[in-house]
Amino acid sequence: MLNRPPLKVLIAAPRGFCAGVDRAIQIVELALERFGAPVYVRHEIVHNRFVVERLKKMGAVFVDELDEVPDDRPVVFSAHGVPKSVPAAAQDRGLTYVDATCPLVSKVHRQAERLIAEGRHIVFIGHAGHPEVIGTFGQVPAGSITLVERVEDVAQLNLSDEANLAFLTQTTLSVDDTAAIVGALKARFPAIKAPRSEDICYATSNRQAAVKAIAAECDRILVIGAPNSSNSLRLAEVAERMGVPARLIERASEIDWDWLGQPGTVGITAGASAPEVLVREVVEALGERFEVIEAEDDHVPERMVFKLPRELVA
Ligand code: SF4
Repeated sequence: MLNRPPLKVLIAAPRGFCAGVDRAIQIVELALERFGAPVYVRHEIVHNRFVVERLKKMGAVFVDELDEVPDDRPVVFSAHGVPKSVPAAAQDRGLTYVDATCPLVSKVHRQAERLIAEGRHIVFIGHAGHPEVIGTFGQVPAGSITLVERVEDVAQLNLSDEANLAFLTQTTLSVDDTAAIVGALKARFPAIKAPRSEDICYATSNRQAAVKAIAAECDRILVIGAPNSSNSLRLAEVAERMGVPARLIERASEIDWDWLGQPGTVGITAGASAPEVLVREVVEALGERFEVIEAEDDHVPERMVFKLPRELVA
């Protein structure tokens, strides 16, 4: 096409797959190699349709609940983590299962158990209904953990033993919003125990920092990720709060060209469950309408890799 207007495409880094997502996908692939198809996966292994469809073609079958898994087939639990009752039910049925829970989510699970053993009540900062929240609540007895979603919720808390509180958080929250909620909790409950280290994971905070780093240069930001992906939604929020109009899209076909207009610079990032191939697809789609000059802003190098479960690599 002739006379395409110039467009700088500034790609945030780090972006896309984190070590936990990479590991979860590899677990399904290795389970397919080890056990043959079909391998059942309870819930979307990670929140990305593209990833799920690819694994389906390889022989993975995605189900909502364990009772949809036949007795003679293996099942993988998703990266978001599961309540304790799920592996217990799998064991009762004699199912072969592989747990793809991200080690950083498991770390929060173990902290929750320790806090309950210390006799504390947990205030959990997270989003109601998210699988990670359901999984973490399922690590401790009912009634021993209370969800807080917004700063305003802190004033409404009605907890009986204020001297024995602790807080934990979901791994994929907004760093800034969480800091405000933690501030409100500490102001209201000065004795509340904080986690030993930040629960918001390295991938979530690095991707948010990388968006902040490119925002000042961008007229629009496209965030590639699924509408049910918590960390992707947070990336769009971070961009908007930096004053840059942002849209969450699953892939290039969802670009709203009227909204995009004729910008000088478009920023691109991708949530932790979005593969790089979708970033390239978006850059190519932009290239069909603009004379693209591509640049990458490498904000924080990432080298995190998680070990695979022994039963799949032995
Ligand atoms: Fe693990 Fe963080 Fe990736 Fe979630 S976003 S899978 S917690 S590394």
